[in-house]
Amino acid sequence: MKPKSLIPHDRGIFCPKCGAGTYVYDSRPIADGIRRRRLCSKCQFVFVTWEIMCSVPPIPKDELKRVTEMLRDIADQIENELK
Ligand SMILES: [Zn+2]
Repeated sequence: MKPKSLIPHDRGIFCPKCGAGTYVYDSRPIADGIRRRRLCSKCQFVFVTWEIMCSVPPIPKDELKRVTEMLRDIADQIENELK
C-alpha cells in the first residue's frame, strides 16, 4: 500500500509499535470529528485514529493535586520495586 502523499502531522501522535513519529496519508470527516490513516516514519506500521471533538469541564485544583500526588506515589512504588 503506497500512499499518494505524506503529510507530516502534529508530533503528538507516535507509532504504537515503535514510538517513532507518524505521517498522515488519508483524512476523512466523520460525525463530530475526523478519521486519519497514519504511517509510522520508522517501521512503516499503519494505523487509524478517530479524533472526536468533545468539551471537558476544568478539573478543580484540589482534585488535580490529589491525583498528581497519587501518581507520584505509584511511580515511587514502581521505582522501588525495580531497585
Ligand atoms: Zn513504528
